[in-house]
Amino acid sequence: MNPNFLQTPVAYLKGVGPNRADALKSELGIETFKDLLHLFPNRYLDKTSYYKINQLQPSGADVQVIGKLVHIKIVEQKRGKRLVASFVDETGQMDLVWFRGHKWIKENLKLNEPYVVFGKVNKYGSTFSMPHPEMETLQKHQQGLKLAMQPIYPSTEKLSNKGITNRVIGKMIQQLFLECKGQFPESLSPSILDELKLITKSAALFNIHFPKNQELLAKARFRLKFEELFFVQLRLISQNLRRKQKIKGMPFGNVGEKFTEFFENHLPFELTNAQKRVIKEIRGDLGSNAQMNRLLQGDVGSGKTIVALMCMLLAIDNGFQTCLMAPTEILATQHYNGLKELLANMDIKIALLTGSTKKSERTLLHNQLENGNLNILVGTHAVLEDKVQFQNLGLAIVDEQHRFGVAQRSKLWHKNQIPPHILVMTATPIPRTLAMSLYGDLDISVIDELPPGRKPIKTVHRYDSNRLKVFGFIKDEIKKGRQIYIVYPLIQESEALDYKDLMDGYESIVRDFPQPDYQISIVHGKMKPADKDYEMERFVKGETQIMIATTVIEVGVNVPNASVMIIESAERFGLSQLHQLRGRVGRGAEQSFCILMTSHKLSEDAKTRLQTMVGTNDGFKIAEVDLKLRGPGDLMGTQQSGMLNLKIADIVKDNQILKTARYHAVQLLKQDPRLEKAENAPILNAYSKMMANKTIWNYIS
Ligand code: ADP
Ligand code: MG
Repeated sequence: MNPNFLQTPVAYLKGVGPNRADALKSELGIETFKDLLHLFPNRYLDKTSYYKINQLQPSGADVQVIGKLVHIKIVEQKRGKRLVASFVDETGQMDLVWFRGHKWIKENLKLNEPYVVFGKVNKYGSTFSMPHPEMETLQKHQQGLKLAMQPIYPSTEKLSNKGITNRVIGKMIQQLFLECKGQFPESLSPSILDELKLITKSAALFNIHFPKNQELLAKARFRLKFEELFFVQLRLISQNLRRKQKIKGMPFGNVGEKFTEFFENHLPFELTNAQKRVIKEIRGDLGSNAQMNRLLQGDVGSGKTIVALMCMLLAIDNGFQTCLMAPTEILATQHYNGLKELLANMDIKIALLTGSTKKSERTLLHNQLENGNLNILVGTHAVLEDKVQFQNLGLAIVDEQHRFGVAQRSKLWHKNQIPPHILVMTATPIPRTLAMSLYGDLDISVIDELPPGRKPIKTVHRYDSNRLKVFGFIKDEIKKGRQIYIVYPLIQESEALDYKDLMDGYESIVRDFPQPDYQISIVHGKMKPADKDYEMERFVKGETQIMIATTVIEVGVNVPNASVMIIESAERFGLSQLHQLRGRVGRGAEQSFCILMTSHKLSEDAKTRLQTMVGTNDGFKIAEVDLKLRGPGDLMGTQQSGMLNLKIADIVKDNQILKTARYHAVQLLKQDPRLEKAENAPILNAYSKMMANKTIWNYIS
């Protein structure tokens, strides 16, 4: 085959032409033969099975039905006409609907002749209807070439409107196989093929499009998923290696005065081994010539803040400024107060910048940053504004990474002439291989140990009908001197309703917990920041015993005396959110409790979430369940998983294949870093082609 054959524009394929090529490009992003070849079926229809009309389900799946047209009529509607044919079998009646092509249909379709129709069904009232079905007479259907499994390709309405149906796409791909005799260049090395018993590229491509049976399909899928993930890993790993060689960082050579002073005189507790290890890893990065880009994962309460502080001291010791960014104003404020207290007896200038910082203060702050008088800036997104300029930002730390996008992270890069070292901290742990795949450009450290003396939080699930008992329990705990959180969901879609729930809840709590015996704080998103701070402050100081809040308190807030977390409508929260909320208690020496309140109506997923929460305190385990339930898109911001642009592999479901792929990519780069060995030529070839096609990758390297 001509090596550039697959780069041929699809317009040149027999049966495509410029118009169809345009549609393929705009709808599916298909430009070349290669793109078309890699348009993998979403699923396969077992064309040996037929549905009866009374078996149809409004599931959106494609179905095949045998029946007869008994009646055709034109229905006038506001926006054009529609042709509706009544289609029956011995079990019932459904509608076939066309919005275009009426003339052809009326002339060609015959009443009372058996047809096989194929398409998606929708239900309107009690009648099923199939828009623009593919159909052929039963006779023709029985004579036709029968593929055991009919591939269903991704498509769009516009494509089928232009006559590019599933069948047409299938034909195009057949044509492509004909023209190159089914031979495609291999992209993996013989040793990998051999070791993993993979089928060849040509066999895999054939069987993904025209599977003879389930077994061959499974082999084809495995081979193609592996290959896809393998090349993603190869790219990520080599990018990371290259970044380390190319982008000069600012080496922090000194472990100096401030770091040592803090460590010896002000550290309020002994560091855990995990904290020590992680600080060492970070110090290694900071001391090298490369720019650090590191993700610090640690469960809620594992003590990431102190690690952040000690890294900031390293930066200060080397004459640099540093900043710490948090996703909410409450959290930024809390970090600021906490750090100020830890640094109370040291000569270090620290300031807070949030959306509600006054203009006069801001101006002062900007000056101090620019002339280098300020060592540490703590803040929210406000830190990213262009007006905020540092004299020499050496290290930027981002807390609770999942709330920040990649774009924001890159803004930090540009806050200094040489990009600052970057540490992102997250309490939403995800499995390591997954993290590496999603954040391929980050190195990863994990704090996998909690500070000593923590009692595991006891978690229970209670129905709303048991509320009185729960209230009794709260009263007992308050008598013992503890403080209580009660959290309500606030989800944007139904904000007004949620807000009402919150206020109703507040009123009923006030009734059951009357003043002056009980003092109650309330914090929610509609309050002014100053009022929020005031209420928060009262709770932190122990002036109020109950904190009623929405999820604004989800991240980071630290009140060690609070020992009970009650989560209302817990079925409406995601797992990672529940885990975050629970992490607000269990921070002191007392036994802590988390009570998940729900109604009796629970979906299967909600039940799994509740059981998981009751069953474990381990954030990593919870994250795995969460991933299975939700997929990584939700967890990490769809942006990141979308970036990988996977065609066949699923980063969650195919986690095992991902691990294998990563292992082989690492081994390969170890043994043959520049892919020079003859046996790796197929890999080098495929890889260079991929890189040439992706301008963004070139840009990064
Ligand atoms: P997170 O990782 O959730 O941000 P924090 O940094 O807020 O956790 O730490 C949680 C609590 O644990 C804080 O009160 C902190 O002072 C305390 N802490 C952190 N490290 C240790 C340690 N090594 N020993 C005892 N307490 C610690
Ligand atoms: Mg924290």
